[in-house]
Amino acid sequence: MIFDFQPTRELPIFDTHAHYNDDRFATEIDGGRDEILAALFSQNVKYIVNAGTSIEASRECIAIAEKYKQAYATAGIHPEDVRHGNDIDKTMDELRELLSHPKVRALGEIGLDYHYEEPPREVQQVWFRRQLELARELKMPVVIHDRDAHGDVMDILRDYPDVTGEFHSFSASGEIARQLVNRGWYISFSGVITFKNAARLAEIVPSVPLDRVMIETDAPYLAPVPYRGKMNHSGLMEYTAVRAAELYGINVEEFCRHAYENSCRFFGIKE
Ligand SMILES: [Zn+2]
Repeated sequence: MIFDFQPTRELPIFDTHAHYNDDRFATEIDGGRDEILAALFSQNVKYIVNAGTSIEASRECIAIAEKYKQAYATAGIHPEDVRHGNDIDKTMDELRELLSHPKVRALGEIGLDYHYEEPPREVQQVWFRRQLELARELKMPVVIHDRDAHGDVMDILRDYPDVTGEFHSFSASGEIARQLVNRGWYISFSGVITFKNAARLAEIVPSVPLDRVMIETDAPYLAPVPYRGKMNHSGLMEYTAVRAAELYGINVEEFCRHAYENSCRFFGIKE
């Protein structure tokens, strides 16, 4: 069997955050990631940025970017991938090397994740600060992962006023969205905005100016309704885009055009 997803309409889709290097794309859908990516790129999906979460995962994302013209990558150490006792100086040197690759367009995903209380908060914060210092030095935008840590993420970012970037799968407050936008940041929404229990987030979406909003899958995670709980892929972003457009009160083509232009600008992609 082959990957048989078919979009219902023509839209310019830019997936700003995905993990096609994930093992689940090697096995769970027949044909695996190459068949899926080839199919998606022949449909609505114009670009996909795979987000690095460790040195090894960042290398995998770069390998996909080298294989596909329409794939780009970020490189960074995710807060759940930092380990006490890892040689942080050596890792920063490796990261610096990966960030020099022409298809790596941001440093990420980095940030804080207090969901499981592990790794310890202090360890996560040290790695977050070191990577923000590297972004400042290299003048690179960052991709932020923030789960249940909004206050500490914002406090730390205030110490690096010249670093900006994208908040991925945004889940913080309207006030935080407003502050970030005022400081030049972009906000990316995932399939979570289609969830029935996401009423608070739904109110925040249209408060983000149309020249700062982006959308993403976080595939294989966070599939939008009506595929919630299933394995996610960039084709399903149509549902996220329809919901976002509805929240803005504009048509989905117009919403996608804005999100697409913003994403190209943010990742430095010139057509
Ligand atoms: Zn992610």
